[in-house]
Amino acid sequence: MSELTIKNALIMPMTDTRKCFEGYVRIKDGVIENVMEGSPRDDIKGRESIDGTGCVLMPGLVNAHTHLYQVLLRAVWEDLELMPWLRRIYGCARVLRPEHFFAGSLLGCVEAIRSGVTTVCEHNFLNPSVECAFETLRAIQDSGLRAVFARTIMDTGEIVPECVKEKPDAAFRHIENILAKYDRSAGLSFMTGPNTPPINTTPGLLKEIRRFADDKSLGISAHVAESKSVVECVRREHGKEGVVEFLQEFGIPGPNSSFAHSVHISSDEIALLKQTGTSVSHNPVSNMMLGDGVAPVVEMLRQGVNVALGTDGAASNHSQDLFDTMKAASLLQKVHHQDAGVIDPYSVLRMATIGGAKALGLASICGTIEVGKRADLILVDIDTIHSQPINDIFSQIVHCAKASDVRTVIVNGRILMRERELVQHHEKVILTNARKAHRDLTERLASLSF
Ligand SMILES: [Zn+2]
Repeated sequence: MSELTIKNALIMPMTDTRKCFEGYVRIKDGVIENVMEGSPRDDIKGRESIDGTGCVLMPGLVNAHTHLYQVLLRAVWEDLELMPWLRRIYGCARVLRPEHFFAGSLLGCVEAIRSGVTTVCEHNFLNPSVECAFETLRAIQDSGLRAVFARTIMDTGEIVPECVKEKPDAAFRHIENILAKYDRSAGLSFMTGPNTPPINTTPGLLKEIRRFADDKSLGISAHVAESKSVVECVRREHGKEGVVEFLQEFGIPGPNSSFAHSVHISSDEIALLKQTGTSVSHNPVSNMMLGDGVAPVVEMLRQGVNVALGTDGAASNHSQDLFDTMKAASLLQKVHHQDAGVIDPYSVLRMATIGGAKALGLASICGTIEVGKRADLILVDIDTIHSQPINDIFSQIVHCAKASDVRTVIVNGRILMRERELVQHHEKVILTNARKAHRDLTERLASLSF
């Protein structure tokens, strides 16, 4: 039995009610047992406690869309728009090895932990060999993060190398093997999905995916309408006005579906997302980096669509920093609408916490600080030069706080980082291994032409 108290912190529960108060949280066996104002009257002997003085205690951030191994590809192709960029990302599959996935994913996980993320959704889409997915999963489990592993499928596409095109049945068998090996209750759950329909998925695959997901009780993750070029493809090849409209034909939208990006979608398609209970994971930094456009986040929120936040892979973001992403999400909507009041900081914080948990089917597990939920919590130092003095704590977490202000990270009641020191990993070893994998990958990439 493990017990932990976090006291003297400014608690930001991130529930429906916008509130913040000084108090303490008690955790027992990984579950939040008590959330109280004031100081604990009794310091129970033998119970571990953390002093949160000068810090905000908030739910750990949920990175609802990323590709962890891509930290090895930071700033490699940064002046390309989506299609030529994707040609290179997919082309990497010809030289990517399982060890690259392990070393890169572990580095990505540690970057996430150090920036206050407690849950990641790994959208997995390149599997030149079956070990690539297994090595990514091994890195995620080593890191201690809560994770959703979305093992997606590609079965067509001129820019997709043959080594990663799969027949639906073969891909489903691979996913079944993954499901058989891992215990879904141990902080890990699974999704499947088409990767970027329709540019790399056939209608036949889309039909099969919905059936398979329902059979196995899996959520669906997909890149949706990321750039204009994807919408042009669906119009040209399938005679549909938009990607969401196209996917509706195959029953892909739904309450367990999370659509990354959803940049180029119409008002009618937003209504369809609301009607079907589909979530969107918004990746503003990646969208800006690739010059994709601005997702209609304000309209989605107005229509009641659940919106989460993601970094996307570091090949189109350069980092796994969700503080960065929160600030970008807020500022991008303000400048796009030329209206400083168009989005409020509390909504952005909700997107980065409970919005992400909902999108990944984890709303009853994490995303808020409430009795009975798992203890996925972070302490963020606000006693800093760039955050003081405090006038509006919600705005200042979004617009002033930095990833490096995260002091302590707890997942499932387990401390992963304490006072910025990783508890179970040696940062130098992870960095050395990542550099080695990077050197090897860079040499192999030099042999490719795109
Ligand atoms: Zn992505």
